[in-house]
Amino acid sequence: MAATSHASIQPRDGVSTLVGRWPLLGQRRALVIYLSAMVALDLVAIMVFSITVEFRWSDVYTFSALMACGAVCIEATRRLGVPAGVSRDLLSAWWLPVALLLPPLYALFAPIVLQALLQMRVRATVLYRRVTSSAAIGLAGCTASVLFHRFVDDPGVLSRGSGPPIMYAVAAAVLFALLNIALIAIAALTADPDMSWREVLWNKESLLLDIVELCLGITVAIGCGLNLALLLLALPPVVLLQRSLLHAQLQAAARTDAKTGLLNAAAWQREADTEIVRARRTGDTLALLIIDIDHFKRVNDAHGHLAGDQVLVGVASTLRSQLREYDVVGRFGGEEFVVLLPGADAREARRVAERLRARIGHMAIPADDTLIRVTISTGVALMSVHGDDLIELLAAADLALYRAKELGRDRVCLPAIQPQPQPQSQPQSQPQFQSQPQSQSQSQPRPQPQPQFQSQPRSRPEPPEASEGSRPEQLGI
Ligand code: GH3
Ligand code: MG
Ligand code: MG
Repeated sequence: MAATSHASIQPRDGVSTLVGRWPLLGQRRALVIYLSAMVALDLVAIMVFSITVEFRWSDVYTFSALMACGAVCIEATRRLGVPAGVSRDLLSAWWLPVALLLPPLYALFAPIVLQALLQMRVRATVLYRRVTSSAAIGLAGCTASVLFHRFVDDPGVLSRGSGPPIMYAVAAAVLFALLNIALIAIAALTADPDMSWREVLWNKESLLLDIVELCLGITVAIGCGLNLALLLLALPPVVLLQRSLLHAQLQAAARTDAKTGLLNAAAWQREADTEIVRARRTGDTLALLIIDIDHFKRVNDAHGHLAGDQVLVGVASTLRSQLREYDVVGRFGGEEFVVLLPGADAREARRVAERLRARIGHMAIPADDTLIRVTISTGVALMSVHGDDLIELLAAADLALYRAKELGRDRVCLPAIQPQPQPQSQPQSQPQFQSQPQSQSQSQPRPQPQPQFQSQPRSRPEPPEASEGSRPEQLGI
């Protein structure tokens, strides 16, 4: 089945991933308190360790050399461009040796130096994200450093190859990673208590990267202890790894809608096409939904575009959480979403569409002093009933969506007339459903029966603006 993309919080991505969520006022306050406490603790640790540290020039040289390597890594990947949301890097390869080889104070300073460079040279983001990320990494590194130095008096023994110090270094590196994950995961769960620990903590790709970082960090620390000049040998492979990691992330970002984390229209089309070809070959059922937020313009007009964006994020996250891993979910454009349900028949499609309508109808997005609530209208098309390929299914679902809008919105509809020219098919056996919200009056005007949709010029109640294109032809199909 096609892999789908969705917005998930990856702890090691730092606090920046929290911005996709829109915590309620109480949760926002708790989050601010938590992040402020973390930064305050970081500052206290810096003061305490500044007083107690024993100054040595050799430490300063080692620190400068490792930070210079980090700077080279940042510069080497800067030109590739880092879009918002792409935030994994291999900088632990440099601040982990700082934590192992130098007094804990340096572990607190290392992320400040590199985050400042990232802010100045790569991407100027809101300062609090850099500050909180530095604090989380600094506190994790400092704790790992303190524990490592408790068991290993002279970090130079790391380079002599004896087992126990290396085992302690591995343990310290694991502790460093776990603490960093925990600090960010607590922030994520404070922002959104509904998230599961699994969603926050478990990400196979991220775990693999953590292991790579851990191995790199320990190898660099061992080389560094032998001779600082060996950093010149470690630098090229780390830069290359960092560049390929960034490249992979950029590729993933190119498939993703930046605002919602869902597949963008082009990527959704590719994956949907694959699923449809598969369903045609195997004879499996399949359904396609087009979901449009009702009166979304009013949300923007009343609360502003930023609040409107948060509604889009909320709807996307609800869609993702309510669907199976192999359902293909995308943002079609503007306030329209598309869902492909492999294996779903009319009954299943209806059940899913109604569940989505109910869940989104219960959502409340906080905006200033009020809560925004929205409803959705959904058009459903079924494979082999309303179309045999993507363009036919999209057109049929779009027609059904018009119908849902005409009937008063906040409902799920099929196209009024089944368009598939099937000589043997019995018209009365075609699935026909149309939901109505409890609150809607039953006296809605009935739609005019529509002729076969392929030959019918469609007219929508309120034509969409040209810039928010989401019609099939605008997907290039
Ligand atoms: P209907 O119930 O008929 O669908 O009405 P509507 O207001 O939802 O539809 P309309 O097409 O009139 O307006 C869509 C609005 O969506 C207008 C546009 O400004 C807004 N929009 C499109 N993309 C975005 C976006 O990315 N963010 C925000 N905040 N608004 C967007
Ligand atoms: Mg629309
Ligand atoms: Mg709309």
